[in-house]
Order: sequence, then C-alpha cells, then structure tokens
Amino acid sequence: MRGEAAQPVQAWVDYFRDLGIHDFYRPGGPAPLAGDEALEAAATPAAMAPLDLAPLPGPAPVPAASMPDRAAALLAIRNDIGDCTRCPLAYAGRRKIVFGDGSPTARLMFVGEGPGADEDAQGVPFVGKAGQLLNNMIAAMGLARAEVYIANIVKCRPPNNRVPEPVEANTCSQFLLRQIDVVGPEVIVALGATAATYLLGVKQSLGSLRGRWHACRGAKLAVTYHPAFLLRDPSQKAEAWKDLRMVMGELGLKPPARG
Ligand code: SF4
Repeated sequence: MRGEAAQPVQAWVDYFRDLGIHDFYRPGGPAPLAGDEALEAAATPAAMAPLDLAPLPGPAPVPAASMPDRAAALLAIRNDIGDCTRCPLAYAGRRKIVFGDGSPTARLMFVGEGPGADEDAQGVPFVGKAGQLLNNMIAAMGLARAEVYIANIVKCRPPNNRVPEPVEANTCSQFLLRQIDVVGPEVIVALGATAATYLLGVKQSLGSLRGRWHACRGAKLAVTYHPAFLLRDPSQKAEAWKDLRMVMGELGLKPPARG
C-alpha cells in the first residue's frame, strides 16, 4: 500500500498496536490480514460484557440542507462569536478561538472539553498528541477526519488546561449547540466527562454513562474517554474501542478494507 490509501489502514494498525494487538498476519502467509471477525475477536477483551443498549427513538429528521448551506450557517455562527469576550476565558491568555473542524454534513460528531496549547496556537481542535490519537481512532472506525465534525464545549483555552468553570461552559456551549443543529449528526460522541456533562445536562461518572445511548438534540449520543486521558492511561484504550464499536454499529461502519 502506498500514498493516501495506506494512511487510514496504517492509522488503524497503529491504533490496534496501541491496544496491544500486533498479530495481523497469518503465520507463514505472504501478507494476508486476519479476517475482520478474527481481528475483532482479538481486539475484544474476553471479559467484555454485552453493552447495555437502551432503546431510544431514532434521530430526529435533519432539515434538508446542502453542504454550502450548512457551511454558510456554520460561518454565520463563527461570525456571531466574533472576537468573543462573553466569558472569563477571553481574558485568560487565549491566542485563537477554536471554533470547530470537519464536514458540515457529518454523520458523526466528536465533542471534547476545550482547546489545549496546540489547538490554541493553531485555532483548530484536536491537533496535538490527543488529536493524533483521535485521528487514529477515527481511522480505525473506517472514516477520514474530514468526514466527521469536531468541536469542544469551550472555544478558548482554559489556563493550564484546567476544566472549564460552569460559567464558561454554560456561556460558550450555546455556540456548540447551534453547530450541532446545523450539522445535524446522527451520532455524537462525548469525549470525557466535561463534554458529557454539558451535552446531557447531568453530572454523572463517566463509567455510569458509557456503554449505552443517550439523546442530544435529535442525535444519539455515546460517551467515551477523552483521548488525553487515554494517553495517560493506555490500558483504557480497549474500553474506548468498545464505545467506538457501539457507534460503528449504529452508523453501519466497518474498519478500513484490507490492502
Ligand atoms: S470560551 Fe466561548 S464564550 Fe468564552 S470567550 Fe471563548 S468563545 Fe466566548
């Protein structure tokens, strides 16, 4: 495999290697990858319990809107934000407002907590080490980053990467909710407890929210670990993969094709 076609598969392989799975080739075989089922079985911890999939009504119909219309609507939100001083994070050393990134017609949306140093410098969400891991997670799901939409609860970097204060998150999340309404994703993945808290309006442990579906603005919402947490505790990557598999099942996604 060469060039762009190899990148998603390489990211997929990297992600499974992060999970501690290295045996993609049959012993003695020239190159064939193990079958998807075998690979998934290998990626699935033996002790994994069946996911508790609470039945929820399907996503609300998304108003028909073309890609240019939705892109224009997102731009209008960005223009509304302007050089925002609506919350204290405007005066906490931010360099760039980090609006969002990805497809205006994405079926899948990821929401994190807030920008870090790299994101603050570039004005784009999830571009640092945690962003690289998120890219690999997206590729492992069989998608390109450009096919999903990525945003955060707050659009300005909290100093020292602290958790946003409620006044900051509550003030800024109005813009995120408008972004969600424009994009109209079928599934939202809340990355970490802060995103889950402000998207669901409840404060519960991440463990109690994972493994089942929630509802958010016409979309089904799943909760998983923030990539920054997974970098600190890689042993939880297998659990995060369970969450992503649940999302893949909902969206009919399969891991990237072999070869
Ligand atoms: S975090 Fe949001 S509400 Fe606060 S200053 Fe930045 S853009 Fe405005």
